[in-house]
Amino acid sequence: MYRVVIDYEKCQRCGECVKACSMGVIEIIDDEPFPVNPDQCHGCEICIEKCPVKAIKIIYLYKKKI
Ligand code: SF4
Ligand code: SF4
Repeated sequence: MYRVVIDYEKCQRCGECVKACSMGVIEIIDDEPFPVNPDQCHGCEICIEKCPVKAIKIIYLYKKKI
């Protein structure tokens, strides 16, 4: 399971990450990009490549074995 983390200090609100993501994970809401469908992220990192200011990180989450 992946999670998108956006650094809003760096983000230029350009919307390139929204265009880049074929899974519809990120949407612009009130001029800010938000990962609205985080469970759809498959960790391809295309949004990272397209972000002009490297404001995105993808974190891999895993379930602990009990
Ligand atoms: S890593 Fe891929 S699937 Fe996940 S938000 Fe970025 S572009 Fe979309
Ligand atoms: S591509 Fe980068 S700078 Fe542009 S809106 Fe997305 S996170 Fe912000």
